[in-house]
Amino acid sequence: MKIGVWLLTSLIIVSSCKTNSENDASKETSELVNDKQSIKKIDVHSHYKYSREYLPVLHQKWNMQSVLVDVSIKDSTGIVRSWDSYLTHAQKHPDLFFLCSSLIGVGIDSPDFVEQAIQQLKREIDSGARMVKVWKNFGMVTKDSSGHYIQIDDSRLQPIWDFLKQKNIPVMAHIGEPEQAWRPLDPNNPHYGYYKNNPQYHAYKFPEIPSYETIISARDKWIENNPDLKILCAHLGSMSHDVEMVSERLDRFSNMYVEPAARFGDLANQDSKKVRAFFEKYQDRILFGSDYGNATPENIMSPDELKEEEMNLDESYNKLWRYLSSSDSLVIRGQKTQGLQLSKEILHKIYYKNAIDFLELR
Ligand SMILES: [Zn+2]
Repeated sequence: MKIGVWLLTSLIIVSSCKTNSENDASKETSELVNDKQSIKKIDVHSHYKYSREYLPVLHQKWNMQSVLVDVSIKDSTGIVRSWDSYLTHAQKHPDLFFLCSSLIGVGIDSPDFVEQAIQQLKREIDSGARMVKVWKNFGMVTKDSSGHYIQIDDSRLQPIWDFLKQKNIPVMAHIGEPEQAWRPLDPNNPHYGYYKNNPQYHAYKFPEIPSYETIISARDKWIENNPDLKILCAHLGSMSHDVEMVSERLDRFSNMYVEPAARFGDLANQDSKKVRAFFEKYQDRILFGSDYGNATPENIMSPDELKEEEMNLDESYNKLWRYLSSSDSLVIRGQKTQGLQLSKEILHKIYYKNAIDFLELR
């Protein structure tokens, strides 16, 4: 109640200082916030591995389609991928989902590595993959036979990039980690919880892992060496703590695009005016991504668990929508912030048009 009164008072004070056209614009924005249907959306970074009865309904509610992004990891049994699950799921709802394949550098020294990788990509592009993801195993996890961490600009990977250019297939690059990974854990940092629960990625504890700067500069060199390859840097290119670092790269590399999945907390940690200016300046190079997904088959979940999952997802999409479209006070990953109140035109580009152009979905 107290908050409601405070909001009402502050709205009256703010609106009394505004001109008529500003009043019209903020009226349009406040109507827009409540009409999420009016902007078509594509979530370019999702991991809906298993189908759910509610997912088509939720996508309709948000006027949204999603890209299902495969993940490859190496464990003691070998390379584990989710591709088959994503393919099955996408084929069930071709109107809702697009596919993104993935590439891992394990076995880079074997003489048929490139040929095998290209064969796999060819198959998956033929099955509908519109993008290929490379993951943070490049740079900080996977080593070659001489014991060196394989960086993404490794020349042994070049034939694969040449193949993708020729196929006109872009790459989604999650290279590196937030800077926090190389520092002692800070309870106020938006990534504190992640590294506490996933200490294997807390590079600070593993001095043999290459530095943040080494990994980011290899990534930059790779983008620079491949100007004809369209590269979508996931998670704001692991530079989410500082939009100026992202801007500097976007200015330098015209083939680079970014999406902020799972890094909205870092944006919330920076001055909203500065972040808003960043979105305005790069409105043609930022795509919407969430990193939301699931990891459990529907048939082993109870109705209550499914209901809760659906509600959480809806609330999460709603928070990101409010952050981008309203000027509401919000808390994202423990960071207090104010919504960016982007214009309808910019929201249309970030949520939809840029993804259509980038993935050539026409
Ligand atoms: Zn992801």
